[in-house]
Amino acid sequence: MDLKKYVTVVEGWPKEGISFKDITTIMDNGPAYKYATDQIVEYAKKVGAELIVGPEARGFITGCPVAYALEIGFAPVRKPGKLPREVISQEYALEYGTNTLTMHSDAVKPGQKVLIVDDLLATGGTVEASIKLIEQMGGEVVGCAFLIELEDLKGRDKIAKYDIFTVMEY
Ligand code: IMP
Repeated sequence: MDLKKYVTVVEGWPKEGISFKDITTIMDNGPAYKYATDQIVEYAKKVGAELIVGPEARGFITGCPVAYALEIGFAPVRKPGKLPREVISQEYALEYGTNTLTMHSDAVKPGQKVLIVDDLLATGGTVEASIKLIEQMGGEVVGCAFLIELEDLKGRDKIAKYDIFTVMEY
């Protein structure tokens, strides 16, 4: 299946100069959503994932069906103030300013093989912060999977020592 046919490219959103890749037009098509998920499920099996970690919010959409298919758990990465129990936090740099991501401090078990799943790899800041949170809990990041990689932004370089799987590249 040519999955790119189902990605809607929105020019100038959320701001001028950005070419936003909208994956909602994959999700609202049953066979396309299943096909996209199946690619990541196969990769997750190959790397022996025992837990899926996904950053809010599109990492939930892409990661949860993979966890369901493999009958393994899913742990969310969230913005501050969203998780109800004790959290660990990780700050990362944006073009202007910083962002913080959190996870429940018991979300990953020491030695657990974790696959990070998100819709899109851009600068790599989100996935790099997620890796730090997982490793702080003693988890082993066995791979990072994305539906889309924006190659010009070189996010891959930030996580060069990890295994990376992408379904589509732009
Ligand atoms: P990064 O941290 O710069 O790699 O950005 C990746 C994060 O930003 C992911 O969680 C994406 O959901 C989001 N993101 C950035 N650009 C796009 C886009 O064009 N489409 C959808 N999500 C995007």
